[in-house]
Formats: sequence, structure tokens, C-alpha cells
Amino acid sequence: MRRVPVKREDRPAIFYKTNGVCHVCGRKLTFDDYGGGWVVDHVEPHHRRGISSWPNYLPACVVCNGLRWSYRPETIQRILRLGVIANLAGFHSKNSKVGEKIREMYRERLVKNRLRTLNLTGDKRKREKALLKARLADLDKRVIKRRQGSDKWWDAALDQVLAKDTDLKAAYDEVMRHV
Ligand SMILES: [Zn+2]
Repeated sequence: MRRVPVKREDRPAIFYKTNGVCHVCGRKLTFDDYGGGWVVDHVEPHHRRGISSWPNYLPACVVCNGLRWSYRPETIQRILRLGVIANLAGFHSKNSKVGEKIREMYRERLVKNRLRTLNLTGDKRKREKALLKARLADLDKRVIKRRQGSDKWWDAALDQVLAKDTDLKAAYDEVMRHV
């Protein structure tokens, strides 16, 4: 998404409009991490009469800004509805075939996004793709295993698996940074 440059001196006023949290997901942002962790989001997209002035600006994670893109509100709501359904099937229910498929599609999407930013070609790209796919599939298996016989939610199990393996945690965080 095209990001409109915002004057440095306007950034604090925008940042503190939400008390420094992403207006999309609510994640706590770090002011000094401008450009890397957060950006100024056009609440109403530029091309749909969104004005380029600070009443129309809110802070957002780089990831949320990319995911929100410039969809219409109706589309965002559909995305959220679908997301709620997919999240229940894929990350809450246990032993769901549809859920398995959803997680596989989710991993494929993460790999695709990561590869796009890596800009590799030929065999290098193939190798990296295979590596990322295998790593994420392995992580999935480990999280599933951790949830077996417990009432753990997906995220709690994921945190536990990642806490035991710092290399995996770094690789996972890296993949999740891309939209
Ligand atoms: Zn966010």
C-alpha cells in the first residue's frame, strides 16, 4: 500500500490519538519504531475521498496497514467474519479436516509473502520455499501435539513451543512480519 509521508512533527499527535496502540488490532506500538513497526494509516483511503491531513490519520502496525490495504468497510467486515470462522475451524477446534486445510493454506500464504520480500530466483527460491514450508509444517505439528489431551488454545500452545526454541521463534517472527 502506498504510504503517505507524514511530517516528523505530526507523528506524536497521531501516535497518541490511540494512546500508542494500532487502531486495527490494538497491539502496543513503540513510538521510536516508526517505519519498521508502525506507520500512519489513512483511515479513509486516499483514492476514496480520504483526505491527506491529520484528522484522517491513525497509527497502525505495518502488518495491519498492509492487510487492511484500501478495502471498503463492507469488505473489511467480511474479511473479519471469514477470519472468525476460519480461526475457529483452524485454530480452536481440534481434529477438524477443514481446519487442517485452513492451516495449510495459511502457511502457504505466509511462505508466499515471505518469498516475495526475499526476491530470490531459481534454485535458491525453490530451496528457501521448501525450507520455509517444512519449518512451518513442523511448527504446526508441534503445536497440535502440545494441544493434545489439554484444553490449551492454539496461541498458548504456540507460545510454549516457541519459548523452547529460539531459532524457530526468530524464523517465525520473521515470517510473520510480511504481508
Ligand atoms: Zn495492528
